Parts: sequence; C-alpha cells; structure tokens
Amino acid sequence: MRISVSKRFTIVSSFVVTLFLLCLASIRLHAQTENPPPIELQNGIPLGHMVIEGDIIVPLDFFEPSSRSGFGDTEFWPNGVVPFRFDDEVEADEEAAMLAAMAELESVANVDFVPRATQTNFITIRDSTGNNSEVGMQGGEQVINIFNWNVRFIMVHELMHALGFWHEQSRPDRDDYVTINLDNIDPANRHNFNRRDAATVYPKQAFGLGDAETYDFDSVMHYGQCAFAVGTCPPDTTLDVKPPNDSWQNQIGQRDHLSRLDILTVSQLYGQPDWRFVDITNSGYYDGSFSYPYHTLGMGVMYAPAGGTLLIQPGNYNETGTYSTAMTFNAPLGHVIWGE
Ligand SMILES: [Zn+2]
Repeated sequence: MRISVSKRFTIVSSFVVTLFLLCLASIRLHAQTENPPPIELQNGIPLGHMVIEGDIIVPLDFFEPSSRSGFGDTEFWPNGVVPFRFDDEVEADEEAAMLAAMAELESVANVDFVPRATQTNFITIRDSTGNNSEVGMQGGEQVINIFNWNVRFIMVHELMHALGFWHEQSRPDRDDYVTINLDNIDPANRHNFNRRDAATVYPKQAFGLGDAETYDFDSVMHYGQCAFAVGTCPPDTTLDVKPPNDSWQNQIGQRDHLSRLDILTVSQLYGQPDWRFVDITNSGYYDGSFSYPYHTLGMGVMYAPAGGTLLIQPGNYNETGTYSTAMTFNAPLGHVIWGE
C-alpha cells in the first residue's frame, strides 16, 4: 500500500515535471519563432562548405568545373542593403563592436547593414574560433564568423568579403607585384595563395581600378608577409613585394584602415543611385553600372539621370557632341580626354 502511494506520487510528480518542461520548451519555441531555423554547422562552418584562403567560406565543390561558385558570378547586395542578425551567443559588447565595423563601410559607400526582419537573403554573425565569411551575397542565410571582436578592421575585412571582395593578392595580375615563397608554406596550405583568373569579377579590376598603378599594397584585403608561414617569420616570409614597390614589404596586411582604393572601389561598387559609369575599354554588355559601364561618354550623357554623376575611366574619348543635361563628371583616377 505504501509502495503504491509512493509510486502514484512519482507518476504524478513526473507528469507535473513533464508538463513544466513542455511549457518551458513551448515558451522557448515561441521566443525563437522570430529567428530562422538554425543553420547546420560543423566547426562553425555551414555544412557542405569549406574555408579557402584562410577565411573565405565556399561550397565543397567550389573548385569543380561544374560549381555554381565560379568566380564569374559573385553576387552583390541589391541597392547596398545587407540584412543581418546576431547569433544568440554574441554578447552585447561584441554586437556594438560589429556595428562600429559596419559603420566604417556605411560611411564611405551606399551600403546599409539593416537588422533582418523577413528578408530572404541575410547574414548571421556568429561568435567563433576564427574569422571567416563567404564572398558576396549567397542567397538565403549565410554566415560571418568572428573571433577578433576587438579588432575593428578584421571585422571590416570579413564584411568586405560579404560585400563581394576577394583577397587583393589573389588578383589575376598579382605575380607582377608579389612573389609567393611556396618553400615556406605547408603544401596543405598552398591553395590559400591561388590566383583568381577572372578579372571581370574582381571589383578592383573593374572600371580601370586594376591597372599597373592600382595594385593595392595598402588594402585591408591584402595578406601580410607572414601569412601561413611555416618558418620563423620574419625573416622567412611567405609574400615578398617585388621592386620597385618593396618599401611596402612590412606594411602589407594592415588591419587598421580602409585604403584609398578600398574606399574608392566599395564606394563605386555600391554607388549612389544616380551614379553612372563610363569605360572606353568596355566593348560588351552595358547598363551604366560599375560592372557594365557605358563605353562612350555620349552614351553616358544621354542615359544618365539629370543631376546625376558620370564616373569616367581614364582614356581618350574621341567624341564630339552637344549635350544640355546638367550633370557632374568625375574621373577619380584622372587622365580623361574628351574630344581632340
Ligand atoms: Zn579574407
């Protein structure tokens, strides 16, 4: 009899406990309905993805010929609006630090990082053991992992990846400017120094920003001289700047500011709505955007909105014409001749 009472008590109490737990779970479930279902991760990296070049997240089939992530299809965020959310683990002071990093980019380009409401494409920012990001807008949820919450321009670097920037030293023409010392790099890490072969998707190579004077040693997107070094670095560097630019040797890899060309490129890639671009070397498709500039000045003047700005690539525009629409001409890299 006593045993039976005790049993009943156990049954009743465990029922109450179960009810309580169910309530808790439902409260938690309710609190989470605002957030998307958690993305599946392995060591902080979304399943089906890997890290290349130290901090760039790409799909596992990235290097396969059939991969959707060829370098030719880097997606940019429409109108510069980048929805984001913080993972639950991120603390308040870390959130504040990231917002300050976002503000650095918002202050130089037409980019707006906005808290995600219901947007389909967005970034989840996570606390992690490393810093990494995907390049450009992936579609759906994508991840930025941060370890160095205390280094603002490491976060800016990862945000620049998410905006569509690759590493400066992977430019197709980088071998003209730097030497990679493979002897000092573990074979398993040598892929981190791969060269990109499609200039058209490289923002700094578009719109005349990739010519000889614009390899950007000062870029926040450049590796340092000791990246992935096996030996003691310095003196055993992995990246050597070639003469006559070797005075940059100790300065590459800085993480304390956006370079002049970082700013110029991101400000044009995410330009103001009434900006149009002209590039005499573009002989293909055009719509006046940074990526697809008009190829004649006349076309720019004809199609740009009144009061807008034409950004003109250096060149000799051998055209004549009379135009009456008021607009601003800007040749940030200089050397534009119109009519001769
Ligand atoms: Zn990077």
